[in-house]
Amino acid sequence: MPTDPGQPKPAPAETPGAATAAELAHVGEASGAQWLQRYSSSLMGVFGTPQRVLVRGAGCLVWDADGKEYLDLLGGIAVNALGHAHPFVTSVISSQLATLGHVSNFFTSPTQIALAEKLLQLAGAPAGSKVFFANSGTEANEAAFKLARRNSGPGRTRIIALEGAFHGRTMGALALTAKEAYRTPFEPLPGGVVHIPFGDVEALRAAVDDTVAAVFLEPIQGEAGVRPLPEGYLRAAREATTAAGALLILDEVQTGIGRTGKWLASADAGIVPDAVTLAKGLGGGFPIGALITYGEQTSHLLTAGQHGTTFGGNPVATAAALATLHAIESQGVMENARRVGEQLRTALAAVDHVTEVRGEGLLIGFDLDADMAPAAVNAALDAGFIINAPGPRTIRLAPPLILTSAQADQFVQALPNILATAIGAIE
Ligand SMILES: *Cc1c(COP(=O)(O)O)cnc(C)c1O
Repeated sequence: MPTDPGQPKPAPAETPGAATAAELAHVGEASGAQWLQRYSSSLMGVFGTPQRVLVRGAGCLVWDADGKEYLDLLGGIAVNALGHAHPFVTSVISSQLATLGHVSNFFTSPTQIALAEKLLQLAGAPAGSKVFFANSGTEANEAAFKLARRNSGPGRTRIIALEGAFHGRTMGALALTAKEAYRTPFEPLPGGVVHIPFGDVEALRAAVDDTVAAVFLEPIQGEAGVRPLPEGYLRAAREATTAAGALLILDEVQTGIGRTGKWLASADAGIVPDAVTLAKGLGGGFPIGALITYGEQTSHLLTAGQHGTTFGGNPVATAAALATLHAIESQGVMENARRVGEQLRTALAAVDHVTEVRGEGLLIGFDLDADMAPAAVNAALDAGFIINAPGPRTIRLAPPLILTSAQADQFVQALPNILATAIGAIE
């Protein structure tokens, strides 16, 4: 006989001995240096040596194992849209986990359906558009890659991506990623992908013909140092792909979900893509990815049994994303990203040794006049700021979208000293 869901059984007795993850991991019992030693003997070396061991966060601040405080201007690489430990997101995730955590895709849940509907609405997607949920950006792009293959056929075998592109590290997404150092050790990769020069409309028009199944584009290349596509490029790509019968697939894993001050970086381009991938900011720090397919025809390319995932779209991840979208929408977060982003870009452009500032909203890249970006990252850490160097002379900022004016100013004020230290370190 079904039980009344309104009358939950009493919770089982608490597991004795440890009440929190901090206790399970014995957080207080080792210094940062000791943790890093244990890291290097237990974790695979693919990330090199982590910069710090972080134990706690609140808003735009995080603290390391030695108690040092940092202003987080990277936000877990454009992930922590609402900062750390956002009270509303935390409470929605906790209550969902205490209600229903995982069900597999033999079943669905109201949070999953509500999130899909919300994403279609935010994307302005036409009737017949659909969503597939994954757990990460690379997985969202794997799904998009399969979509592209389903648009392939005799004579239509090529997929176009751009030089400088980053679409992820699993084999399909890696085939779309341009960087040789990431690709070469893993060849052969899925075939047919051609990388054309970045931002060159003529090269695009020349490449896109009826042998092309899909074109993958990032509206702003984040990993390449925050490089925006030139004005008019997305429109040209839409025209060329429509004429050729190819799909236009936008990777908004980094640029989406308010990062640029709007839901999608491509929102103002005046085009309707065939698909968009999302991840990073979507779960506010909880892992989730999504593929949106636009319109009936594209949405039907992947049919029952042609793709799947165990975890994707689970109740907790989709609850985290619903909470994140709700908070962004109701708390003026995108307006803040536009305003503070503008303030930062203007102020950064006036700092000595800064040669160029790029980006939109709170996705910002700036170039320095020498190969000192990694040294600047280290100097910034010592000064209590987390920033990132996607290239030898390029700094990227992707802070929580709730960064305040005063916090932005704090970094700008500290930057001259950080750069002076970096120059000293490379000499
Ligand atoms: C980060 C990123 C990915 C990969 O996402 P993961 O969650 O790391 O797999 C793909 N595309 C873009 C544009 C990204 O910035």
